[in-house]
Amino acid sequence: MRDDLSALEGYHSPQVHVRVRLNTNESPFPPPAAWRDAFAAELSRVEWHRYPDRSATALREGIAALHGVRADQVFAANGSNEVLQTLLLTFAGPGRTVATFEPTYQLHGHIARLTGATVVEGERAADFTLDLAEVRRVLAAARPSVTFLCSPNNPTGLEEPEANVREVLSLSPGLLVVDEAYGQFASWSAMGMVHDELPMVVSRTFSKTWSMAGSRLGYLVGPSWLVAELDKVVLPYHLDAAKQIAGRLALQYADEMEARVQLVVTERDRLMAAMAAMPIDVFPSGANFVLFRPRGIAGRVVWQGLLDRSVLVRDCSSWPRLDDCLRVTIGTPDENDEFLTALSEVMR
Ligand SMILES: *Cc1c(COP(=O)(O)O)cnc(C)c1O
Repeated sequence: MRDDLSALEGYHSPQVHVRVRLNTNESPFPPPAAWRDAFAAELSRVEWHRYPDRSATALREGIAALHGVRADQVFAANGSNEVLQTLLLTFAGPGRTVATFEPTYQLHGHIARLTGATVVEGERAADFTLDLAEVRRVLAAARPSVTFLCSPNNPTGLEEPEANVREVLSLSPGLLVVDEAYGQFASWSAMGMVHDELPMVVSRTFSKTWSMAGSRLGYLVGPSWLVAELDKVVLPYHLDAAKQIAGRLALQYADEMEARVQLVVTERDRLMAAMAAMPIDVFPSGANFVLFRPRGIAGRVVWQGLLDRSVLVRDCSSWPRLDDCLRVTIGTPDENDEFLTALSEVMR
């Protein structure tokens, strides 16, 4: 086995059995019943003895229509994690450097290391905003082949202002990846910046807003030449027939998706206001989760206290730069009530 891999740790998110599971940023609502029926009907007509459409034409056309781009600007894969992996296999690898600004989504650096690339970690400011002087320093020193931004950023929840994304794009010597896994919750999207002449892509996922984490489907929008390169790198027939149908049909329920997003945003604002009334530092969020740091009590103790009440949140308290921080996913109104009740008990 490769020496560089033995030093790496895997990516873990404990799946404990609890009543209220608010730790992985999924949608708390299932997809519409009509989607389920349409999916089942189409599944029964699949020619299972044949390989699926290798280029997932109908799915890509549907995604392209959603964003007002061409299908040859869309690359889809098994979750946006596979989108990121394919990007990194194409643009990173041994002898190359990838830049992240921490704290951010752990898998950006993790997958980059798996390809054999060197990861350079820039630091965010203490309030987790992007420090442009630090960006300039890191990009000038490391000359990365790939630079990651994440907006809204996981696990902090902060949206990246448009001016920052434009500045990083102009400073980046290689490819800029803007991970918008939570894009629909945010006030703006970098999707409109994508252009065939610019070295940038925007990635999205069906796992969060589309209520389809069980299906593993994600995509990016980028320059058509880049999509053609990714099609060379990804395994043939990587998107199975069922997934292509699931994703294509989901797009017909965009209005229902937007309604779920609105409900989550309303609940998020309610939750944040209630938490701010407790001895807790709450970070601003443009996503479906909230990062918070209890004052006067260790984060790990609060996490355990919530778990004792059958409420599971993400324990970030031992992650670098996130001392005592926990991250809660917005659930259904009932789940959020249970969370708030448990939290106020623990904080008392
Ligand atoms: C959840 C998440 C993803 C990933 O998702 P898939 O389920 O692989 O599509 C990608 N990026 C960020 C920042 C995420 O939080």
